[in-house]
Amino acid sequence: MRISYSSLENFKQCPLKYKLSNIDKIKEPKSKEAIFGSYIHKILKWFYQKDPHFPTLDALLKYYRDYWPKKSEGFEWKDPEEEKSYFKEGLRILEEFYKKNIPHKTSILDLETRFEVVIDENPDKPNGKHILTGVIDRIDKLPDGTVEIIDYKTGKRMPSQRALDKNDQLSLYAIGLKSRWPRIKIEDLKLSLYFLKFNEKINTKRTEKELEEEKDKIIELIHKIEKSNFEPHSSALCGWCGYRNICPIWRHFYENEESNHLNDVDIKEKIDKYFVLKKEKEKLEQELLELKNLIDVYCHKKGLKRVFGENGYFSHTVYNEISYDIPKLKEILEPLEKWEEIIEINAKKLKKVLKEVPADLRKKIKETEKIEERFKCLSTNHISKKEIKEQLD
Ligand code: SF4
Repeated sequence: MRISYSSLENFKQCPLKYKLSNIDKIKEPKSKEAIFGSYIHKILKWFYQKDPHFPTLDALLKYYRDYWPKKSEGFEWKDPEEEKSYFKEGLRILEEFYKKNIPHKTSILDLETRFEVVIDENPDKPNGKHILTGVIDRIDKLPDGTVEIIDYKTGKRMPSQRALDKNDQLSLYAIGLKSRWPRIKIEDLKLSLYFLKFNEKINTKRTEKELEEEKDKIIELIHKIEKSNFEPHSSALCGWCGYRNICPIWRHFYENEESNHLNDVDIKEKIDKYFVLKKEKEKLEQELLELKNLIDVYCHKKGLKRVFGENGYFSHTVYNEISYDIPKLKEILEPLEKWEEIIEINAKKLKKVLKEVPADLRKKIKETEKIEERFKCLSTNHISKKEIKEQLD
């Protein structure tokens, strides 16, 4: 399997998104943020290719204006105001970037560097070879002889230093760079993310041990992908996913009126009726609860254990909650071979424990995982289409 950082992230975000992109090879329509981000990357690549004869700020901005993504290139801005605001934002970013970075003090070693690393290889297994791929935006040689990996970001959020120290993308790039240039020592490698909207570059380092741990994490994830059945995982990130029109979670949201019918059943009407009834049910449940509390207070005040109406009665019953001395119980039941029959693994608790066990044992435990049963459940969310639209936009 050939896998990149973005594919791994796709899988972590949503297995179906990974499948649509990597297995079904369906091209994901790019969001406006992604188009804008790629364009800024293109401009900066052009700029740094001129090293050491950097263009003037005016030349940089002219290039930016001249090649702005247009309809003729397959991209259409839906709203002219939105286009204007992105365009202006790009100008601001480049202007501020130029002022902070020129004159340029480092030497450019490479731009958009591609790498491929064999991350796992099992000759006994067909398709047992896994290759990690990636593209590093920029690699600089710093005046003190050390090397810096720089990845540009056009997102609206900057991570904390703590998050950066654990950032998988930078660890992966360090693995990629070390495979291309094995002589570079890890302590001489600076890993940076440049947040263009804030004109801030933040950096971190890694140790050889951390890179080994990262490799283990990637292999673990690859094995998860191999076993996956690629169920969709809906989250806030769906708002940025280009597959919403074909994804079974969101497809119906975009379908037209006619497709709401199946065998003369208008499904939209049934869904709306369901929510009306659900509301009525909740109101009734609330009323029942209030009645119960009132009856309870009455019993308590009158010292009664049972009260009667014409159609039924209420009784107060005391139940004991029993707990056991686990080690003693185990001692008794184990020789009878009955212990195994009563213990049950609690998946939630195991997940918590897994975080505390060493990586090699965690891997071994993970290998024992198997899906016993697949069950479907239909859940509901009482939210209007208008509100969902606002969340997605
Ligand atoms: S829209 Fe959401 S659930 Fe559907 S494929 Fe994309 S990320 Fe997955």
